[in-house]
Amino acid sequence: MQITFKFQREGTRAKPVYSEYEMDVDPETSVFDALVGVRETQDGSLAFRGNCSVGFCGDCTLSVNGAQKATCLETVGKTQKDGVIAVQPIRYAPVEKDVMHDVRKFLWDKVNVFARGVVPNGHGPVADEELRPVRKAMRCTTCGLCDEGCTVIDVNLNFHGPAALTKLYRFAFDPRDGVTAERLREGSEVNGIWDCVHCWEATEHCPFGLEPTHLIMETRDRAVAHGVKSGYGNKSAQRHYDSFEQSVEKSGWLDERAVALASYGGLVRGGIRMLPAGLRALRKGKASLKPHHKRPGAREIRKIFERYHRSTEALRKEKQA
Ligand code: SF4
Repeated sequence: MQITFKFQREGTRAKPVYSEYEMDVDPETSVFDALVGVRETQDGSLAFRGNCSVGFCGDCTLSVNGAQKATCLETVGKTQKDGVIAVQPIRYAPVEKDVMHDVRKFLWDKVNVFARGVVPNGHGPVADEELRPVRKAMRCTTCGLCDEGCTVIDVNLNFHGPAALTKLYRFAFDPRDGVTAERLREGSEVNGIWDCVHCWEATEHCPFGLEPTHLIMETRDRAVAHGVKSGYGNKSAQRHYDSFEQSVEKSGWLDERAVALASYGGLVRGGIRMLPAGLRALRKGKASLKPHHKRPGAREIRKIFERYHRSTEALRKEKQA
């Protein structure tokens, strides 16, 4: 089939300046092989990344016709739109040339924060069942597509991102590891697991079905089980979790106003930060000035919290003994 390949060479993501090339390609050819074909036959100056060609290394991730793809895993026939394949750099990596990004800053520096290998804890032979979750995370190719979809990286480039946090999971769930608590505390620092807003985009984007958002949620549970307080390392997140818990304990349901104010630092600081959004929400009828009231059944919910406090206190004393 006849395809017009467009390579962004200048401009911005919103206003790209493309170089265009026509080529006849078998629809079953991978997009990556087709791009190599264009470079070999038409313009040797085109720059893009690629390595294994079998979906293992993640190096060839690009924005293709507006969607992030591991280009070696996509066929030309399925990817083209009206006979066009337009490639642009991925969103967050600094571009070195054309659509070639700096993979070190984009991924490897972040992943390496959690890449310290297993520190043996003397565990004997490990049953297959015990290693199953770890094996899933080990299938991560560090393609970075989950980071591409991540809505936190959108507003905070320093967020470690789901690819790096998948690496954290890989070691934090390994039964043979002797520094699990330390890893979980490191992963709980600012820009770590508690900065994820669980929008599930990472899970949607992973081409290998590794469900990175789920892995982050499981890592949070494991961190709490190892004595890390929800939101640890991130003051705003911690305030959010604390006030969320207090609100449900007190009234049986969420007092969104109180939680928003508390998350931003209390009545005064939170009030100033939230004022414009609060006024907009009031105008659109999405917020009200009525006092927050207890929901029916609040007493039963409070009893659940009392049981929870008793059991965590007992656990704390048991650990101290
Ligand atoms: S979790 Fe999935 S999408 Fe994210 S880097 Fe690993 S393989 Fe790629």
